[in-house]
Amino acid sequence: MMMQFVTPILRQSPRLCRGGVGAGVDVVLSNFTSPSNSSSSIRHEHSKQLLRAYSSSSPSSSSSAAAAAHTLLILGKPGGGKGTISSKILSDFPQFKHVSTGDELRQHVRTGTELGLQAKKFMDEGLLVPDEVMIKMVLSTTQSASATGQSLLLDGFPRTLSQAQSLDNTLTINHVINLCIPNEIIVERISDRWIHPASGRVYSYSYRPPKVHGIDDETGEQLVQRDDDKPASVMRRLEKYEEATRPLVDYYRDKGVLQTFKGTMSDVIYVDVKRWLEEKLACDDDEEDEKEMKG
Ligand code: AMP
Repeated sequence: MMMQFVTPILRQSPRLCRGGVGAGVDVVLSNFTSPSNSSSSIRHEHSKQLLRAYSSSSPSSSSSAAAAAHTLLILGKPGGGKGTISSKILSDFPQFKHVSTGDELRQHVRTGTELGLQAKKFMDEGLLVPDEVMIKMVLSTTQSASATGQSLLLDGFPRTLSQAQSLDNTLTINHVINLCIPNEIIVERISDRWIHPASGRVYSYSYRPPKVHGIDDETGEQLVQRDDDKPASVMRRLEKYEEATRPLVDYYRDKGVLQTFKGTMSDVIYVDVKRWLEEKLACDDDEEDEKEMKG
């Protein structure tokens, strides 16, 4: 395990509540152009229709954008620390409800639902589950949360431009955390990750080793490597990220809501994430107060 320690590079911004969010522009990604072709626009149109159908079936959906207090999105390559950073955010900012599409899909696979059976073949191959399936799944999870004004932390969705554009119809994403981790660190981390399939408990031989090698601490059962954590699948997932998910970096940067955090160690990166998020939430609250005073 490489013990290299690199300080995350965060382009620090002064406290700027309006227009200041773009201060985290990541020049490394700025020359990326989004692929667009007719089949993706057909898919997008289909996704939008699906989303409209689901939105109109919920009495609360028309006001869901306003009802969700904050929607935070965490973007990054597979194995790039999204899960770790998310759990730290949830522990420091308990107002957020975690919506992890990867966790949710794995739960469906474990319990053998129809959706799980449908998704498994894509997941095992390191491919993305079709947009239509994902939109349907996420909306049923987020609708009740947004109806009650619950803040959301989206982890793993949206993952394609089409999903993002569809989501815009019902939710406003206020802030986006873009984690930028070198590929070699990711490959190393993923090969280190083993799980207990029945519970979904995750171990890392470097950071959170089981008490006994290869054995789950609680049940004594065998640990396994996720099919999509095997080397060929990891490479495909990284390729898919570049092709399908990377365009979201530009998409959210253009909206002025993206902040990039670079580094190799989640604990170190998180110090900056936390400071930035505290600032953003404080700014949002100030703006809400201002609105209330005016209104
Ligand atoms: P994750 O744990 O977030 O890396 O997700 C594991 C796998 O679930 C991915 O490799 C995809 O096959 C699938 N998946 C999760 N979220 C999405 C999404 N938003 N769109 C398509 N596939 C997804």
